[in-house]
Amino acid sequence: MCGIVGYVGKRDCTQILLDSLSKLEYRGYDSAGIAVFSGGGIKTCKTMGRIADLKEKINSECSDLCGSCGIGHTRWATHGEPSDVNSHPHGNAEISIVHNGIIENYQKIKDFLIKRGYVFESQTDTETVAKLLDHYYDGDPMETIRKVLGEIEGSYALGIIFKDFPDRIYAVRKDSPLIVGVGEDEAFIASDVPAILKYTRDYYLLEQDEIAVLDNGKAQIYDKHGALLEKELKTADWDMEAAEKGGYEHFMLKEINEQPDAIRQTISPRISDGIPCFEECGLTAEKLAAYRNIFVVACGTAMHAGLVGKYVIEKLARIPVTVDVASEFRYRDPIIGEGDLVIIVSQSGETADSLEALKLSKRRGAQTLAIVNVVGSSIAREADMVIYTHAGPEISVASTKAYSVQIAVFYMLAFLLAYSRKQISLEECKRLTAVLESVPEKLGEILKSEKTCQFVASQLVNSENLLYIGRGLDYALSMEGSLKLKEISYIHSESYAAGELKHGTISLVTESMPVIAVATQHDLFEKTVSNAKEVKARGGKVIIVTQEDTEVGDDVADHKIGLPSIDDLLMPMLTVAPLQLIAYYTSVLRGNDVDKPRNLAKSVTVE
Ligand code: GLU
Repeated sequence: MCGIVGYVGKRDCTQILLDSLSKLEYRGYDSAGIAVFSGGGIKTCKTMGRIADLKEKINSECSDLCGSCGIGHTRWATHGEPSDVNSHPHGNAEISIVHNGIIENYQKIKDFLIKRGYVFESQTDTETVAKLLDHYYDGDPMETIRKVLGEIEGSYALGIIFKDFPDRIYAVRKDSPLIVGVGEDEAFIASDVPAILKYTRDYYLLEQDEIAVLDNGKAQIYDKHGALLEKELKTADWDMEAAEKGGYEHFMLKEINEQPDAIRQTISPRISDGIPCFEECGLTAEKLAAYRNIFVVACGTAMHAGLVGKYVIEKLARIPVTVDVASEFRYRDPIIGEGDLVIIVSQSGETADSLEALKLSKRRGAQTLAIVNVVGSSIAREADMVIYTHAGPEISVASTKAYSVQIAVFYMLAFLLAYSRKQISLEECKRLTAVLESVPEKLGEILKSEKTCQFVASQLVNSENLLYIGRGLDYALSMEGSLKLKEISYIHSESYAAGELKHGTISLVTESMPVIAVATQHDLFEKTVSNAKEVKARGGKVIIVTQEDTEVGDDVADHKIGLPSIDDLLMPMLTVAPLQLIAYYTSVLRGNDVDKPRNLAKSVTVE
């Protein structure tokens, strides 16, 4: 999530802050703001909209904003819709902060502060940090910051300024990125290298829980106990374009690698006493237990996430789930009404067909729940309840991390539904939740061993047609794998339920038709293997995706991609990674424009 910048030096910082923020625009944002030491106090200017809007507001309303130290922010809303008042910086005349990330226990802190007379203006989690700093502040910024860090939970990169200490910036981070740039008699903070490249190439990487103090154009970094650290100064040798992608060749690869963090950010704020909790979204266990039917309505990748949701919810909670393509649902006169829950899934929250399906569901009296990534988007505003995924902005047109967090939310809903409908015990609900929490680490391992996927891509690159097969959950995953490959490699591919192949499609299998068999489910493994053998017997090349410890003979597959083991039910959370990587590398090898595939748009706002 989005951009932080800060400057301490001798130059007029307003221009530098605006310029640095503009270099972070690629990260996506909905509002922008700056706070500057100006005329003996802290002056703030912020607005919903683009950096151009902020510039206009500074020129028209805050032209006296002038100084040589300040902080800036581009916000990508997670708590509270995009608006002027929710924009950063937050604080008062004494202390001002910018924040990237999510404060998970903000409600508890907010309640604590309200009891002590604090009045909140915004709906953000960030404002609680600003006010908590104010609450503890006793003239010693370092001590105050340490106290606050001891109380806040979640992910954060923070830039903080205190009126009593002009021309000084404090910065800290945990699970959100932050670098400290150093130039000649000037220092910077930034979420990412592109923001500082115009001014300096030298920077420190701020590590977890370290505190940076930028003063008098110099930067010093302390550990959380206050001991001064000797840190290695790094030099950025990337050009601007590479820097925006964090050193990755494409946004898609960057976003694939962001998945472990995105999943952590999405699930951990919603776990309470070891089980999922969506009360903040207005979805209680009792409410969930009462629904008669569940419908999942979405398009493309989000619809595939819904298919995983269907399997998992039906399996655990024993409640019927129907998954529909939004453009079909809205015209098929669906049988829905009171007592039904319609779940609309969309990364952007602006997908036209999904939005119309949502309105139709409401008209028919069903309750609606949106699972969306963009706060304040049309679908989020229209739905009765919203669960925001916290994947951060997704820039690559082919969706990757948004899918992973959508299925993570479906798992949590399934666990809670199953528990609230007394289909699983509290212990089992806790166990499953703990397994889900272990996913990011395992996914991280898979992403490190991408060589096999690169090799598999090299075997597919010259194919014109391809098949993906699987059963059960693996079928849902094979659909997503096939779509990803089609979207960015332009290779024609189809996904088939493995058992359905012999009812027609197997006639297409020849030596030039590779088949990717997804077979991660123990109870269905032998069945899918039989189908893979049928393919091999007809000269087809088989690539199997399965659990690491599963033996696969040469008569079954030509190549095996082994995944770390986890409960079979949760395997989709891992299986998706090699499927994304295969699509990615195939596209790269074919020389395609990976992030902007032809004919596709990121947010489909037309029917
Ligand atoms: N959670 C904060 C908010 O919603 C920060 C969002 C961001 O990282 O841009 O304001």
